[in-house]
Amino acid sequence: GRTQSTWRDRRNCIIANNSSVNAFTHISQLPPPSIKGSLSGLSVAVKDNIATSFLPTTCSSAMLQDFASPFDATAVQLLQKSGADIVGKTNCDEFGMGSLNVHSIHGPVVNPFDVSERRSAGGSSGGSAAAVAAGMCDAALGTDTGGSVRLPASYCGVVGLKPSYGLISRWGVISYADSLDCVGILASDVDTVKRVFDSVALYDPRDPTSAPVDIRKVTSEHVDTKIHSRGSILTGLRFGIPQEYFPSEMSPEVLQHTRNVITLLQSQGAVVVPISLPSTSYALSCYYVLASAEASSNLARYDGVQYGTYVPPPPGTDITKTSRVYAVSRSAGFGPEVQKRILLGTYALSADAFDNYFLQAQKVRQLIKDDFDRVFGVPNYFSDSHSRRVDNADTSSQVDHKSDLSSYVQDVLTVPASLAGLPAISIPTNRTAGQAMGEGSSEDRWPIGVSIVGQWGTDSVVMAVASALE
Ligand code: GLN
Repeated sequence: GRTQSTWRDRRNCIIANNSSVNAFTHISQLPPPSIKGSLSGLSVAVKDNIATSFLPTTCSSAMLQDFASPFDATAVQLLQKSGADIVGKTNCDEFGMGSLNVHSIHGPVVNPFDVSERRSAGGSSGGSAAAVAAGMCDAALGTDTGGSVRLPASYCGVVGLKPSYGLISRWGVISYADSLDCVGILASDVDTVKRVFDSVALYDPRDPTSAPVDIRKVTSEHVDTKIHSRGSILTGLRFGIPQEYFPSEMSPEVLQHTRNVITLLQSQGAVVVPISLPSTSYALSCYYVLASAEASSNLARYDGVQYGTYVPPPPGTDITKTSRVYAVSRSAGFGPEVQKRILLGTYALSADAFDNYFLQAQKVRQLIKDDFDRVFGVPNYFSDSHSRRVDNADTSSQVDHKSDLSSYVQDVLTVPASLAGLPAISIPTNRTAGQAMGEGSSEDRWPIGVSIVGQWGTDSVVMAVASALE
């Protein structure tokens, strides 16, 4: 198998595939580490917004095209300590902003499922998902702020986990929106995702939002009783199907696959209950206000002087006005999507708009968290609203899908779990069916993903459920 092959073969496979898929921005020439650990023999790619000292870190932006990090992100250090072979950096939307991996100085990622159709691999971690789907590596790190691991996983037909917020260190991960950013993991099966997760989901004192050891322990007690008190993880486990997660844009094929997954759950002894997450319709606007606001603040550091590519101002510029000097570098260094987010976010934080946009969005975020806390059987460690629970479920199930909807609309199904900081995993529902059904409609041929969402800290349950559905 792939793990037996030499690292030279692996590199050659990456180079050969990359000309059509464009998944990698940089390919490592280093031989694999000699360290023996739980990830020995595993080839792992790293999204290009995660700092590496041995390869460039560009965030797919002209602003960082010459950036060489002096250090490795904690997640990268942990991969190396476990013996993983880090094979390269993967293409993404600029600073993680986008859902189709088209906003990149390295060019778009092409979905490897059928390169001749030149379809999107999804984004923003499109290179990570495509690299796994094309067999260029065994696993990949991505980042997920509002769906950026789950969307490309579902587009490419691989597994993508966005863990609970705070479980994987963000130290060395270039910030987009700190209150939402999570490092996620992509692989072709749940077991590989879990192996990588176990190596990197550790407390890190250098990330102030890293969940402390005692909180991790409390939640794993809940999880252990869920996993070990039954024969199959699915027996008696309650699944909520949120009625708000079936937008009118959803295609009949996707609906049919969702029904199949629900039937499969029931046939394995799971209890399926209808639930309502009534604030869902506000999630998308809430997300884009908050994510843009945080981005505008985070990206302020790239002024071409302290950080980022410096572009000299044209002759005659009054250089005593520093903002004019910055503007030249920022206009050249940031692509249009990033500039749009900075403008939106700066507006939402301005004195006139703050109350009506930023503050309102924070309130909506709380409503979305409350929605989830009301339906989950496991209480949220961080909130006291679980007394208001009604129709509780252990996990909830939703569907995301490769589609032609506008790139913002499709985030509807992924941003709620991000706003609530919850673990969510996307798994392919039609991987084998899709290959067998050559004569089905063309949509049917393409991968479709279903997402499982759990309460904060129940990542192991979410992965165990995904594994049972494989
Ligand atoms: N599509 C969303 C955005 O552009 C989510 C991206 C992400 O999760 N990084 O913000």
